[in-house]
Amino acid sequence: MDVTDSDLWKTYYIEGANLELYTETLSVSFKDMTFQQVAEICFGKLGLLLIAIETIKPDGEKIFAINPLDKSIEQRTRGYFIAGSATEVKRAFFYCVTCHADVKIPELIKECDCSRAQRLDVHLSALVNHAVIMTQHFCRSHQKANIEMGR
Ligand SMILES: [Zn+2]
Repeated sequence: MDVTDSDLWKTYYIEGANLELYTETLSVSFKDMTFQQVAEICFGKLGLLLIAIETIKPDGEKIFAINPLDKSIEQRTRGYFIAGSATEVKRAFFYCVTCHADVKIPELIKECDCSRAQRLDVHLSALVNHAVIMTQHFCRSHQKANIEMGR
């Protein structure tokens, strides 16, 4: 059977129609890389098309950027991906530069022990940051209360 141009077009169309937009938190392995480096790893190793990122600042502010080639990845960043399923985009969350640098098959990128330990660290440091901010708020409002009371 000959594959005509129109058949090819249909094949691409069906492939494209099955792809959707997903978001996933980027692995700590991507921290300090540029968007371009991360996009290349996502495409070449993970089989995902990274199109945008959303960075969450310590104060909770969200900054969205589409294809920001010169921007580097901060710790709390979500990626926006064109992919086939939510399971596929999980690879961007599990990617570990130590364990997966030589992996050739995207399906083999799964949670490893070091990323599990790192995530616990990230979680703890986020908790500590939160506690520091809360303490600062408390001290400031406490000082303010003292000033108002004439001390
Ligand atoms: Zn690992």
